[in-house]
Formats: sequence, C-alpha cells, structure tokens
Amino acid sequence: MMRYQSPDLEQNSPCSHKDGRPDKPEEACGVFGVYAPGKAVAKLTYFGLYALQHRGQESAGIATFEEDRVYCHKDMGLVSQVFNEDILEELPGYMGIGHTRYSTTGSSLRANAQPAVLDTRLGKLALAHNGNIVNVLDLKEKVSKPDRHFLTTTDSEMIAFAIADEVDGGKNWLDAAVDAFKSCKGAYSLVIGTPEGMIGARDPNGIRPLVIGILEGKKPRYVLSSETCGLDIIGAEYLRDVEPGELVWITESGLSSIHWAEKPERKLCVFEMIYFARPDSVMHDESLYSYRLRLGEELAKESFVSADMVMGVPDSGIPAAIGFSRASDIAYGEGLIKNRYVGRTFIQPTQGMREAGIKMKLNTLKDAIANKRVIIVDDSIVRGTTSRKIVGALRDAGAAEVHMRISSPPVTHPCFYGIDTDNQDQLIAATKSVKEIEKQIGVDTLAYLSWEGMLKVTNKDTDSFCSACFTGDYPISIPDRMKRSKLMLETTTK
Ligand code: SF4
Repeated sequence: MMRYQSPDLEQNSPCSHKDGRPDKPEEACGVFGVYAPGKAVAKLTYFGLYALQHRGQESAGIATFEEDRVYCHKDMGLVSQVFNEDILEELPGYMGIGHTRYSTTGSSLRANAQPAVLDTRLGKLALAHNGNIVNVLDLKEKVSKPDRHFLTTTDSEMIAFAIADEVDGGKNWLDAAVDAFKSCKGAYSLVIGTPEGMIGARDPNGIRPLVIGILEGKKPRYVLSSETCGLDIIGAEYLRDVEPGELVWITESGLSSIHWAEKPERKLCVFEMIYFARPDSVMHDESLYSYRLRLGEELAKESFVSADMVMGVPDSGIPAAIGFSRASDIAYGEGLIKNRYVGRTFIQPTQGMREAGIKMKLNTLKDAIANKRVIIVDDSIVRGTTSRKIVGALRDAGAAEVHMRISSPPVTHPCFYGIDTDNQDQLIAATKSVKEIEKQIGVDTLAYLSWEGMLKVTNKDTDSFCSACFTGDYPISIPDRMKRSKLMLETTTK
C-alpha cells in the first residue's frame, strides 16, 4: 500500500506561521529510524516520533520497508493526529523511517511532509532530513532534468534526488550517498531507508544531532534518532552519536561506518543545548537539564540582583531558573502556570482575550507573586513580544519589581542551518541595546548570559559549537542570495 498524499503546492497548511509567528526560535525537524526485522517497526517509529514531537509539529510521516516494497503514510498535524492503530497496521516491514516537520525550507504544505520517497535503479529510497542546505539552488540546478517534476519545495527532496541520480548512474547505495553529500553544503542529519539497509549521516560539522541506539535481543538491532529521548521511549540503549561527516550503514549484518568528510569539524548547534532539545536528552554525556542548570548558575554569578523569588518561564526557562536560585540563594518558586493541553488553536480569540495576552498558554499565580521582587528567567528573547506580555502579566499580578535574566546571549543574527529565528530586522537584540530592550519589555532590569559564560559551562572545547545566531560568525559560509533574504542589517562578526 502506498499512501502518498497528493502533492498540492498551492494549499496552505492551517498550521502555517506566516501570521502570528511564535516568539521563539522553532526547531526544524525530528528524524528517526529503526532496523529491526521481526519487530513492529511502524509502532516503534511512531513512538520515536512521539518523543521527538517538540522538534516539529506541522507534519509527520513514516515509511516502512518490506522486501522491495515501501509503505508510506504522511500528513499534516501532530504525530498523534496523523497516525492511529489502523494506519500503523498497514505499515508492515523490517525497517521504519520517520519524520516530524517544521518548515524551514519550503512552506508548510502537505506535499512537503517527509519522508521523501523516490524510485531508483536499486529500488525505492525514503529520506528524512533535519537541517537546512545552504546551496539548495546549486543542488536544484544539479538535479534538475527536463522530464523531472519536483513533488515538494524542500531541500530534502534535492538531497534524495542527488542520491537517486548517483544510484541511477551505476553506484551502490553507499558510494551514491557519499558522492551526493559532497555536493550538499549546510546542515543535515539524515536517516535514509533503502531496500538493502538503513543509512544515518551527519554533515561534516554535525550541526544537528543524531544518535545511535541498540535494541537488545537475540540479535542486537539498531535505532537512529535526533535525540536520546527517542531511544528511551522504545527501550533502546544509547550507543553513541553519529559523528560529523560520518555515514553509518545498518543491515542484517550489523552496523558499519564510513568517515567520508575530508575535514570534519564539530560545530553542534549550541541552541540545541540551551533550548531546542528536550531537557531529558543527553548530549556530551549529560542531560541537557544539567547543562541548563549550570547556565542558570553562571547567569546568577554574572548578573545577581537582590529579590524575593526566582521563577522560570515554563517550561524551557525552568532548569536555568532553578540553577539561578541555587547559585544566588534566592528561593525558587512557581509564578506562571502553563496550560499543558493547549495545542495550536486556529480559532481567533476575541479582542478582549487578545488584550489579555498570554493567558491562553500561561496564567499567573497572583498570591505567589503579589508584592514580591521577582526574577524571571527565560532561555532566550527573539522578538521580545512574549517577554513584554509576561512582564505585564507579572505586574498585573502585583509584582513589586520584575527582573529578567536570560540564560543565553542576545540573539542578533538569523540561523541558516535549520532553525527558524526570523529575519534579522525582527530580532530585538539586533537593533536595540540591552537598556532599550529593558525599557521595551517593561522590566526593572534585564541581563543576558555572556557568550563566554554560555560556552564555558558546556565543559567542552568552545570551538566545537556553532553559536552564529549570537555572533554572526557562521561556520558554513552562506551564499549571498540566501544571506540577503534574512540578514537585513550589516553582517557583523563577533
Ligand atoms: S545559528 Fe544559532 S540556531 Fe543556527 S545552528 Fe548556529 S547556534 Fe544553532
């Protein structure tokens, strides 16, 4: 059964963010793959994606392989909306490739849902991609043919065609993939299904994460996931990361590896650690919760202010708020309660509700806040609109003073590697000083963590991270045409 949804490039998704964009950077995608003959791979893939839901909420898809056939279902919506027991039953096979998507290249369209499935000389391939190719126009030119119709508007389909063309030119899967990767510039963590086995690969800088897990049994079986939380949910043990510039090949015989990049240079997106990835995911041998606690501790050392309570913006600001509290000896308390069951709503609120601001998602605990000097900790400020509403709500609740502390440096530059951080002119810190932002969002004081502090507490080589959205120092050069689309101001470097 092929369950392709018909491509409809004109159709706009109800999930589109073109209006009312959320005031946070948005993660690009989550990828997942499992090679496990004899196991319910569609279900395992479903739960893997379920754990990776935070990485993309616009569409979800699973492709399964059974001998030379591929079964695929993908659609707009959350993982739990796209799949049910009946649909999973109709996805048989020994290998599953899964994807959750937030659009960074190509609009939010049903046709752009992944995995991308293509025919080749050696059978079908199914590709799931997290990241962003910066030379996508060159790549498109390379793979364009007079009789070729692109089904999507994504860079991921270009990568799939690049591999398919190498296969059709006579290469085996591995040589084809490596040669295709060599013509891709940018960020890509990939899980690719083929009739002969499953490929996991990261770009030479390893900007987006990708981990390998093992499902124990008579014969160990391998799992690939954007984050370790995707392994935990199905009971797989973390084995190791796919290295930057590495391709792993998973078949009936086990796992083998090719280090194909000439000069791999580790540049993991530091924002994954600060905010995007789940706090229970492990990077560099520790949970991101622990890293975020230390960010808060460092923040307290750098920008202590006397107050009665420290609170975090739920959920992502909470670990750093706890760290701030521990290091400052100021009591931690809750002051904002999140409605955990709120999804994206497409019903327009009434004018009165709109004026009430954030209350649909967050509500204040008035008796905890009234007459207190409050420190509110968040992980980042992008445009500042949500921060202003939160501060207003705290003042309405009777806070005597509101001090905001941010556990990352000011976001001054857009991301080109798979995170939607808006155009540069929309980033409040790109055009305003800390004092000006303080005034705009209405706080008594505002302080950000320093760039040095953010990297110091990784306890790793500070050169092994991308931090370009804080510095403008992009580790992979950006073609001018792409730069112009997002970098509205001067391109500064740190
Ligand atoms: S520019 Fe920022 S968000 Fe993008 S990869 Fe680099 S650190 Fe991550």
